[in-house]
Amino acid sequence: MAHIIDGKQISQEIRDELKKEVAALAAQGREATLAVIQVGTDPASTVYVNNKKKACAYIGIRSLSYELPEETTEEELLTLIRKLNADDTVNGILVQLPVPGHIREDEIIRTIAPEKDVDGFHPQNVGKLLIGEPGFLPCTPAGVIQLLKRSGIEIAGKHCVVVGRSNIVGKPMAVLMLRENATVTVAHSKTRDLKALCRQADILIVAIGKPRFITAEYVKEGAVVIDVGIHRNEDNKLCGDVLFEEVSPHASAITPVPGGVGPMTIAMLMDNCVESMRNANA
Ligand code: NDP
Repeated sequence: MAHIIDGKQISQEIRDELKKEVAALAAQGREATLAVIQVGTDPASTVYVNNKKKACAYIGIRSLSYELPEETTEEELLTLIRKLNADDTVNGILVQLPVPGHIREDEIIRTIAPEKDVDGFHPQNVGKLLIGEPGFLPCTPAGVIQLLKRSGIEIAGKHCVVVGRSNIVGKPMAVLMLRENATVTVAHSKTRDLKALCRQADILIVAIGKPRFITAEYVKEGAVVIDVGIHRNEDNKLCGDVLFEEVSPHASAITPVPGGVGPMTIAMLMDNCVESMRNANA
């Protein structure tokens, strides 16, 4: 039976480490503030935003909340971002995505100052990731790396197959695994014979956005399986991209949904906030 990688516990460890670090920085008079902007009242976004604010409170980071109406114009949002860019008391700026359709997401991402881009989505931070310079890492893929490392799973030399190539998960995930010296293959919707490819993976990372898609047939005996997917099934219960009950007897280690990758994303966002604090006050 596979080792179940406990993302809740590992994310709690990280939060506690950050809390200590923030307390130590506070004792030297250093403070951090994260500005959280939500446009509209999408219920899922509200849950994410509230969880982020709660995590800030736990760690000791001040959060400023901007709840803007659905009809906010792009220019109004950009003006707020520019104001926060210029505000020295704000270390991090987060715009909860997705924004309503009349606002261009890429324009929002580009306008956030790269040194305050705690989501790690600005092209400058993406470029730094690619060439291996320090910068903010996108939270979900960075969380996966922490899950693997803190579970004692060796990455160097392993064949890692990443299924999915989105800008926020698949692509940065592949780059981070490469940085950790894995041999990386990236699969997507046009990949031929996905099953055979996945069966070659020592570490299989799945971010395709299709509930319970990956069955035992996709998994080599003893592989490590990381499930990034999050969905609600017919019974309103959370499930991932991997058919957990079928795959877990064949894996050496596997992340559950919920309680796997999900909790790590906010923990790594907090890590980026503390990083911005270290940078700003160094
Ligand atoms: P996207 O929809 O942006 O990307 C999905 C990727 O999967 C695409 O690259 C697509 O290929 C590929 N894909 C789709 N169908 C197939 C298929 N049949 N075979 C092979 N590849 C396929 O999703 P995201 O990357 O944003 O998210 C993926 C999942 O992770 C979602 O369930 C999302 O909810 C979850 N998620 C979880 C987070 C967390 O905190 N745990 C954070 C972010 C996302 P192509 O490029 O060819 O279209």
